[in-house]
Amino acid sequence: MEALPPDQQPINLIGGGLAGSLMAVYLAQKGFRVNVYERRADMRQQLLDGGRSINLALSERGIHALREVGLEEEIMEIAIPMYGRMMHAVDGSLTFQAYSKDQQTCIYSVSRAELNARMMNLSESLKLVDFFFEQRAEDIDFESGEVYLKDLATNRSYKAPGRVSIACDGAFSAVRYAMQKTPRFNLEQAYLDHGYKELSIPAGPDNRFQLEPNALHIWPRGSFMMIALPNLDGTFTCTLFLPFEGEWGFDALKTPDRVHLFFETFFPDALPLMPHLLDDFFNNPTGSLVTIRCYPWAKKDRILLMGDASHAIVPFFGQGMNAGFEDCSILNKYIDQHAPDWGKVFDEFQQDRKPNAEAIADMALENFIEMRDTVADPEFLLRKKVMHHLARHIPEFQSRYEWVSFSTIPYAEAYRRGQINDQIIDTLLDGISSLEEIDLQQAETLVKEMFAL
Ligand code: FAD
Repeated sequence: MEALPPDQQPINLIGGGLAGSLMAVYLAQKGFRVNVYERRADMRQQLLDGGRSINLALSERGIHALREVGLEEEIMEIAIPMYGRMMHAVDGSLTFQAYSKDQQTCIYSVSRAELNARMMNLSESLKLVDFFFEQRAEDIDFESGEVYLKDLATNRSYKAPGRVSIACDGAFSAVRYAMQKTPRFNLEQAYLDHGYKELSIPAGPDNRFQLEPNALHIWPRGSFMMIALPNLDGTFTCTLFLPFEGEWGFDALKTPDRVHLFFETFFPDALPLMPHLLDDFFNNPTGSLVTIRCYPWAKKDRILLMGDASHAIVPFFGQGMNAGFEDCSILNKYIDQHAPDWGKVFDEFQQDRKPNAEAIADMALENFIEMRDTVADPEFLLRKKVMHHLARHIPEFQSRYEWVSFSTIPYAEAYRRGQINDQIIDTLLDGISSLEEIDLQQAETLVKEMFAL
């Protein structure tokens, strides 16, 4: 077959997960032909067959990208607003912490599979996108840009047509692995000592939610925690984050009695709501949690890594997918400016995004400590109270959580503003030990001075 001229060749997207499917929409809306090579079978079929529901927190950065491609409304139909965190103490008492000062701004719980399916449907409807399932990328020729694939159904290996490839093949990216073998490629991967397991709370009678549906539930227990997000069918998907080792680590929870005792001891209010606990616990896999930092993300005008392939982060800020969607939006901006000069598109994209990827990776790790330790440390609790107090009373003051989740200012800037917030709180708390002693006048002056307002 005769090769197509370069400007008519398809762009290869490796991985049709969250970032890959959205990027396919962006590219097709610009008139590019796109071939998406996805290792798994078509997950839309599995959706029809029913399966475990896994959900994600979607916030402004992700919504902004969905808005740009015209998918916001459709996704909002399947999204459940969560206005704050509902903290569950061991004695069963509940404390609600709103995410924003107006108590209205929220994040959303969305089914991962539904979201992925709707992006696939939209991209296919644009006629320029072809999905090829059960096709695994195995290697790259960095000179020619060609991708080597294996058809998993037939075991046939082949080269994909096209000279420009965007790799969205996730945290354990095969394309990144190929780049690792090229000179001067930096890579750091760091695993947490904690893993995670997905569990479930079924719907109650008449498909009613058994917990408050408009909140993200957290059971913080010091060195471990559980969270739960609502699904449209009245169920909750819970995620237990636990060390692999130790008295109450995954390695020590090997028998039904031990798991039951663990939940009875630490999650007594959740246990009666989890009739399938033992099945879930022993049948669902234990996942690991990794932070990936690498650079460069691009090889000339041939290959680009994006999404988790370039910057996988731990899930404690609920930002991995949101960051991947923001990648798509920012890449789209550079395509507008510089395509078909893909070398320039990729280079400006990576220079723009790398510092922001670093910032959200660090903030996600910091949030891990914050989420699991909130019950334990009185000084930390006081700082949190002061933060909420300032956010409520000083219009110009915003918490870092709000900058990250409810705005699209670059992550690195949100990080910087969070550090200024910390300095303000340090100054206000100097020599005092209770919220009542906070001088709001002084606080307002400090906010204005330090943010140069
Ligand atoms: P993925 O979604 O992993 O997609 C990669 C795709 O590439 C997959 O379809 C895979 O099959 C395919 N693939 C892999 N290798 C190959 C290959 N060799 N060839 C072809 N195809 C391949 N983020 C949030 O924003 N909010 C949350 O609340 C949230 N919660 C999370 C909870 C947990 C427990 C975890 C682990 C993550 C969470 N995340 C969350 C992060 C989020 O899941 C990821 O950031 C997001 O899925 C990244 O999208 P991606 O498209 O880059 O990668």
